Amino acid sequence: MVDGTAESSKSFYMSKPDGYCFLNNAALAVKLALDSGSCSRVAVIDIDVHYGNGTAEGFYTSDKVLTVSLHMNHGSWGSSHPQKGSIDEVGVDVGLGYNLNVPLPNGTGDRGYEYAMTELVVPAVRRFGPDMVVLVVGQDSSAFDPNGRQSLTMNGYRRIGEIMRGVAEEHSHGRLLMVQEGGYHVTYAAYCLHAMLEGVLKIPEPHLSDPIAYYPEEEAVAVAAVESIKKYHSEFVPFLRGT
Ligand SMILES: [Zn+2]
Repeated sequence: MVDGTAESSKSFYMSKPDGYCFLNNAALAVKLALDSGSCSRVAVIDIDVHYGNGTAEGFYTSDKVLTVSLHMNHGSWGSSHPQKGSIDEVGVDVGLGYNLNVPLPNGTGDRGYEYAMTELVVPAVRRFGPDMVVLVVGQDSSAFDPNGRQSLTMNGYRRIGEIMRGVAEEHSHGRLLMVQEGGYHVTYAAYCLHAMLEGVLKIPEPHLSDPIAYYPEEEAVAVAAVESIKKYHSEFVPFLRGT
């Protein structure tokens, strides 16, 4: 069974299925790239809200694949998903240090993700020196996803796309593979993917504005409006006069 629509980095092609897929598209792409002889070092950056445990497990003993997962700090999901995605799961043997976990708190948001990318991901990729970069994209990190609480908006996805394009141009001759993963607010997921593609393609101005971008609560403005309406009612609505 091939299902490339969601959560495949939570499964692994030779291991037990986990997450929502039987095949791990990202891991298969990495294996194919390495076996082809055209790549010797691959970096996988996974921004799906869930830990990319299948990909991590698949290359846990390898120094040829750097796996970096930015995910919600969700911990273990029981016996089928023992990995926690904690920072001390760093690989073993020659793979020691080549699995980096970045568990992020709920509400990390656009600026928090950009900070994590520039402070943790880019320096690690730069030091690793891949000749191919795989970006595992989950829109379940979005602000409106029922599975995640990471608060990314279209702007955040666009910025991550820009950063990853820069990393690929700097280190892997522009070789960047994007793999689609989770995303459960079906409308907003499409917009976020669009924004990320705009970032990767270095499109200078967004072609789509964010349809449901967060608008901050402004209580003082609302109170002033209510008071103004109340004053009007008090003056001009007969049965409310004087209230
Ligand atoms: Zn996910």
